[in-house]
Amino acid sequence: MYINIHTHFETGRQIEVVSRTFNDVLPEYFSFGIHPWEIDKWENKLDFFDSFLSLKGCLAVGEIGLDKLKGPEINKQIAVFKRQIHFSEEFHLPVILHCVKAWNELKVLKRELNPKQTWIFHGFTKSTLTEEVLKEGIYISIGNAILTSPTLQSALKNIPLNRLFLETDDAECSIEDIYAKVSELKNIPLSQLQSQLVENFKNVFTKWITG
Ligand SMILES: [Zn+2]
Repeated sequence: MYINIHTHFETGRQIEVVSRTFNDVLPEYFSFGIHPWEIDKWENKLDFFDSFLSLKGCLAVGEIGLDKLKGPEINKQIAVFKRQIHFSEEFHLPVILHCVKAWNELKVLKRELNPKQTWIFHGFTKSTLTEEVLKEGIYISIGNAILTSPTLQSALKNIPLNRLFLETDDAECSIEDIYAKVSELKNIPLSQLQSQLVENFKNVFTKWITG
């Protein structure tokens, strides 16, 4: 079984958590949230979050986060992020995090809010942050960068299998290619990687088993 924990394109071929927001058609499994780039567009709808998060197929809040290269000014992003974290806690849903040049802010928020729900750093490429992110209790999700980035490939060695997820995000590659590369780099059979990632998925996306 292949699990793609974060994609923007529904293929229907695997277990996939499709990232959705207001006005989108909802697939079987999805995460729901306001992306930092889209805050100005959807912020006035925050009061309507509940009705989406309580749907059976909604497995996570996301993608949400902080981005210092794009989107509204950082304090506004932080305010909207905090409200969405509040929803994650209220609905017992994990968080799919978008973090661009804002790790210090996110780390402070993680410590300040002390959430019970799991946070997942999606589209992880910043190999120098590996140790710190893991130390904060955050899971790491890796996408197509693993196919080409030597620094990420070597950082993968330091990411324990029980803290890892895989995803395609908005890339055109297939989740199968990413699994194949990770199993090669971790030097484990594909079947072992698959069963470990099913375990992780069950542990973190708890609505998938109970729903
Ligand atoms: Zn994404």
